[in-house]
Amino acid sequence: MGIVAVLGSLITDLVTRAPRLPQPGETVLGDDFSTFLGGKGINQAIVAARQGAKVTMIGRVGTDTYGDNFFPVLKHEGIDSTHVTRDTTVGTGVSLLVVSTESGQNMIVANPRANLSVTAEAVEAALHAVHKQRQGDEKVIFLTQCETSAISYETGVRVAHDLGMTTIWNVAPIPREPLPDDIFKLVDVLVLNETEAASLAQCPVTSVETAQSAAERLIMHGSKHIIITLGAQGCLWSTGTDAKIAHHIENAFAVKAIDATAAGDAFCGALAASLAADLPMATALRRANAAGAVAVTRMGAIASLPTLAEIEALLPQ
Ligand code: ADP
Repeated sequence: MGIVAVLGSLITDLVTRAPRLPQPGETVLGDDFSTFLGGKGINQAIVAARQGAKVTMIGRVGTDTYGDNFFPVLKHEGIDSTHVTRDTTVGTGVSLLVVSTESGQNMIVANPRANLSVTAEAVEAALHAVHKQRQGDEKVIFLTQCETSAISYETGVRVAHDLGMTTIWNVAPIPREPLPDDIFKLVDVLVLNETEAASLAQCPVTSVETAQSAAERLIMHGSKHIIITLGAQGCLWSTGTDAKIAHHIENAFAVKAIDATAAGDAFCGALAASLAADLPMATALRRANAAGAVAVTRMGAIASLPTLAEIEALLPQ
């Protein structure tokens, strides 16, 4: 089984549809409105929990009803929400989306709000609490992204590493501020998509060969494993030292892709749960690819996240 501690975002998407997008200063009449719960953090936590890992979510929401709405979902998914704290001054993170029904184009304003007020102290306390819950030689995985405050995920990686947890960092989205160089040595598994790999390695990533070059640059920063997700091509796993780097491609599963939203989150959640269950990296990546494949067959974020049965149905017997 194993434990997965996910530090990450909780965001409410407020989505309205209108025939076309408004011009500056213009009001357009919308014809539909929906709210969706999401954020890379909670998406990844849900996938890990569905895989059977004992999952603790670390994050922050406001005291508004948007924040209230996350707790029943976390409970339903069997995720420990003790360390999802509430900010009395800053509201829950929201994204405002306008989608044009005529062109399919959208406009998005993302406002992380309480996600950016996760403190270093809260993360440290949560990770020590998770460490204490560990039974026997149970594996503990720490998984984070870049949608909470920089101090929170940097502290998370440092503290988790010091406590002997396996650290997985999905460097998404790539922060605008430079990352502290010493942090990469504390990361066991760095996960990026092609765009993120290109940005962090500062070289184009458009093929398996260019992904390998990017991974070779990234591994110099000191992380043990670099995983670059390659969409319908699966993923590249690179490991080793500058003297000898081994590259391995794990092919994607052939599915009919409808919506790529949350494919990367499904991938990361399943990877974390598989490593928590002490599976070898190649097996964990196969399961992560299966999770990503299921996610692309459905519309939406949480609604498209795979169950254990769906992942196992794709895997060869
Ligand atoms: P992101 O969503 O972060 O951009 P990718 O597009 O690389 O990440 O997708 C993440 C993972 O989801 C891939 O590594 C792969 O396992 C799976 N995946 C994505 N697109 C497809 C697809 N069209 N067919 C099968 N699997 C896919």
